[in-house]
Amino acid sequence: MYDSVIIGAGPAGISAALYLKRANKNVLVLYHGESQLEKAHLIDNYYGFPGGISGKDLYNNGIKQAQNLGVEVKEEEVINLSFNGPLDFSIKTLNNEYKSKTIIIATGNKKLRPNIKGIVDFEGKGISYCAICDGFFYRKKKVAVIGNSNYALSEAEDLHNVTSDITILTNGESFDLKSEFPVDTRKIVEVGGEEKIQYVLFDDGSKMELNGIFIALGTAGGADFAKKLGVMMNKDSIEVNENMKTNINGIYACGNLTGGLLQVNKAVYEGALAGLDIVKYLKEQEV
Ligand SMILES: Cc1cc2nc3c(=O)[nH]c(=O)nc-3n(C[C@H](O)[C@H](O)[C@H](O)COP(=O)(O)OP(=O)(O)OC[C@H]3O[C@@H](n4cnc5c(N)ncnc54)[C@H](O)[C@@H]3O)c2cc1C
Repeated sequence: MYDSVIIGAGPAGISAALYLKRANKNVLVLYHGESQLEKAHLIDNYYGFPGGISGKDLYNNGIKQAQNLGVEVKEEEVINLSFNGPLDFSIKTLNNEYKSKTIIIATGNKKLRPNIKGIVDFEGKGISYCAICDGFFYRKKKVAVIGNSNYALSEAEDLHNVTSDITILTNGESFDLKSEFPVDTRKIVEVGGEEKIQYVLFDDGSKMELNGIFIALGTAGGADFAKKLGVMMNKDSIEVNENMKTNINGIYACGNLTGGLLQVNKAVYEGALAGLDIVKYLKEQEV
């Protein structure tokens, strides 16, 4: 059982890990996929680098710094989180499951939306980004998941609790995983309907009629996990208090995922706040 599992090795996650480890806490950092920081060619406005530093170097240095301090850092894709009771969370990755007293979600703020005509118009009207949150509305109905990764499969599995009519649509991408669900690799031209989503139009001119579409591109983001756990959101950002605590005891969020200033210094600051508050929270739980 870890004191804290941190999802994300960007400036927010690593900063939190440093504060936790220095307080003697048992911490695991999990990361998978690109950080926003890695995409930055040159960071020229962060304290202490007179000639600037490449985002990639700053990112790798952060991970190295945490490892030098003894923080366990693993490259593993997190696909699900669950709450088992007070101070008892499970963090599921592709190959493992970890237990932790607290969780810090520091996955940056990506919401991958496919560039398909009609998607934006029907969000909330049959197009969803969270199977656990909205699957209930599609009991025994025909649904599709758009995606081609393990995350898409995991969303289809969640939907399987409410319906068996599920197709994975890869939108022209290949699909290399083993799936119990039918997979259609045709390119999608448009999605549409009248008031709610009713069809998907493929590039060969044929239409698939359906009642709901779940988008699950790339890896699951922090907002996807948060919604599943009932964490309060403000649009695509996670709502936190002044110590980065969400509405659920033991779950924290920091960095780009909480909105506001999308900069390294803010991510580092929030990571520190989250780490320190967890130290305090765990101490209170001991009494
Ligand atoms: C092109 C560009 C230029 C920029 N320039 C600047 C600049 O000059 N100055 C500045 O201050 N900021 C700049 N930024 C912004 C800065 O990079 C971000 O504000 C900062 O990286 C946010 O940190 P974060 O820790 O919240 O998230 P990120 O750095 O995005 O890190 C997210 C972490 O979460 C992990 N992750 C995501 N999903 C999963 C999953 N399912 N399982 C496991 N791990 C997962 C990723 O692997 C990564 O480790 C720039 C950003 C971009 C894109």
